[in-house]
Amino acid sequence: MTSTLLRGRTLSFVRWPQTIDDHSAWRYEEDGGLLISDGRIVAAGAYADVEKQAGETAKKIDHRPHLLLPGFIDAHVHFPQMQVIASYGAELLDWLNTYTFPEETKFANAQHGRRIARLFLDETVRHGTTTVAAYCSVHKASAEAFFAESHARDMLNVAGKVMMDRNAPEGVLDTPQSGYDDTKALIAEWHGKGRQRYAITPRFAITSSPEQMEMAGALCREHPDLHMQTHLSENHAEIAFTGELYPWSRDYTDVYEHYGLLGKKSLFGHCIHLSEREADALSDSGSVAVFCPTSNLFLGSGLFDYQRFRRRDKPLRIGAATDVGGGTNYSMLRTMDEGYKVIALNGEKLNPFQSFWQITRGNAEALSVADKIGTLEEGTDADIVVLDARATPAMRLRMETVETLAQELFLLQTLGDDRAVREVYVAGRAAKSDMIAG
Ligand SMILES: [Zn+2]
Repeated sequence: MTSTLLRGRTLSFVRWPQTIDDHSAWRYEEDGGLLISDGRIVAAGAYADVEKQAGETAKKIDHRPHLLLPGFIDAHVHFPQMQVIASYGAELLDWLNTYTFPEETKFANAQHGRRIARLFLDETVRHGTTTVAAYCSVHKASAEAFFAESHARDMLNVAGKVMMDRNAPEGVLDTPQSGYDDTKALIAEWHGKGRQRYAITPRFAITSSPEQMEMAGALCREHPDLHMQTHLSENHAEIAFTGELYPWSRDYTDVYEHYGLLGKKSLFGHCIHLSEREADALSDSGSVAVFCPTSNLFLGSGLFDYQRFRRRDKPLRIGAATDVGGGTNYSMLRTMDEGYKVIALNGEKLNPFQSFWQITRGNAEALSVADKIGTLEEGTDADIVVLDARATPAMRLRMETVETLAQELFLLQTLGDDRAVREVYVAGRAAKSDMIAG
């Protein structure tokens, strides 16, 4: 098999960067090389060293002066909501009833699901995202469409059909038994097929009956290696309604705790209005709180307290995500730009190294896949994004005064979007330019 040798400025994180000067938290090569063979990074380091290992036949691609980073990871997104994004004027529960649920009924049609799955993964790749944790619709066919498209592209994606059996229109409801059976069948067919990973996906406590929550807990016990994803503590009306539906619960988190849904592979979208007890419960169980800044601002849900969640005596594991279609952009750069502002409104700052750690290695750790993706380390999968900090006239002009890597990253986050993504490699294959070439 021919190998590929990429040249550029490589940046990959080793751990959380405490400060802007915490240099040992990342590896940066001004003239770096990545040797790719059979979908994996087989050598990484200074270009001169990596070139020696490459051999005569390696295909050389020079991306200088651009940055090579691990492909971005989006820890929470709804693929059936491509035609919900940019819907005006509602808070969470109205937004679901007015826009989302009617739209998701269309995914009973498998052909529609296949079309949107294809366009969705086109869009994520265009924006530099190589892995998502995706909610499908309630329909088994929507998850089949998503996984088939993801597998054909050899992407590492996590996804699951949502389980929801009440408080929504008939066209997006399953039953406790059919939700369980469909999930079992999807796990058998797709989990571990190539790079595909299944997530048990009860939408949230409001749309699942206690019987369905029992079934979700049973699935987690039967498949402890799988992810579980749901929503938690996004909006005050949602929290109050959950309390009415589960009157015995101490708080919202207690509902999921009761049914055995907390754990190291459990991803909880939003987590904005948590009590100290709830945050402790998430921390004790190793559960992940997923920060979705554009969605939280767009729906007026609230401000995720990122830095305090990290600093508390029992810190939270944190992921970051677009939450399209509640979120307003597919780009993890745009997401962290809004994230910076949310954190600023909480009186804190997120430095650019922390931001880029979060959307690469941080999200890989949140998804428990850092041994595979999220870094440029040898032996990991070759999911790589190529970033151009001079992609637009405004960026080019601003770059004239940029002197440090930290400034360049912050510029990319603040002004960058899909235009700054020059190329994307998925399992070593140039995926963005292939797509443009048709
Ligand atoms: Zn969501």
